[in-house]
Amino acid sequence: MTILLLVLAGFIPSTGTPQPLDYGVTPEAADYASGIPVLTYHQITAHQSDYSATPFKLRDDLQRLYDAGFFLIQPTDIEDGLSRVPLDRRPVMITFDDGWEDNFRYLESPDGQQQIDPDCAVAIVNTFIEEHPDFGRGVVFFISWDKIPFGNNSEEKLNAVLDMGHVIGNHSTDHLSFTKIPPSRYWEQVTPALNLFQGKLGLRTSGINAFAYPGGRIPRGVNAESTVASLEYQGRPSVVQAYLVDGAVGSFNRIFDPDGLGEFRISRIDMALYSVPRLLNWSNIMVESDARPSLHDDLPWRPVYSD
Ligand SMILES: [Zn+2]
Repeated sequence: MTILLLVLAGFIPSTGTPQPLDYGVTPEAADYASGIPVLTYHQITAHQSDYSATPFKLRDDLQRLYDAGFFLIQPTDIEDGLSRVPLDRRPVMITFDDGWEDNFRYLESPDGQQQIDPDCAVAIVNTFIEEHPDFGRGVVFFISWDKIPFGNNSEEKLNAVLDMGHVIGNHSTDHLSFTKIPPSRYWEQVTPALNLFQGKLGLRTSGINAFAYPGGRIPRGVNAESTVASLEYQGRPSVVQAYLVDGAVGSFNRIFDPDGLGEFRISRIDMALYSVPRLLNWSNIMVESDARPSLHDDLPWRPVYSD
């Protein structure tokens, strides 16, 4: 209930005059119901596969999302009622699962200097954000500890990702699907991972409270969400949001649903199997509707102009 009140409080219109935003076009208010798409990528590789996207596709997706009026949000923005999202923008969250080296890779230049591979995920995102400062800032890297996070130099890379304004999320200790273990063992996939983060990030670990279910699924009928919600680490909840991969677009109505557990089954779309044009056809975010599922769901969007 507190969360719901905070969300509602975040939506009380402020009395000040908002600063006009310069997008080069005049945003047009529209009455499209808007969900909160959360996109999932895994590896970024030269060849597309079931679990990877190419650098070209990632750049192209970012451009298409930007052109369609999306604005990058982070997990805390959901708690804050999306108050950081400009009124003429729509929210989108971008996440990368597992912590592959191709998400954050260093290359050695001929003079022995290390530089970030321009084709790794974090470099592609950083470059795009620098060139499009009105796109918002920051994506989420969900790290699992069944492998070395980002392949090597984990401590330096994990801290660098936070310094760059991105978010680190927990993607489990062993990447064991919750469909394969009983709820009594869920803590094994959450708490030891937080201890491992603590070893690399120290106090910054307190900011790691978003969890991506390994394999993207949870079993039905065993109170999986409430078990995850009850886990604690150092006197605080281990997980405040948990993310599936179910090919759906969530909305505030679903995330803050009456049983209070919607935050533990936030929908995500796998972008190795999906495209931005298909996302834009999603009824949840594009269909014109008189129904207002909630005030938050009616973020106007920025139309695309081509000339
Ligand atoms: Zn994974």
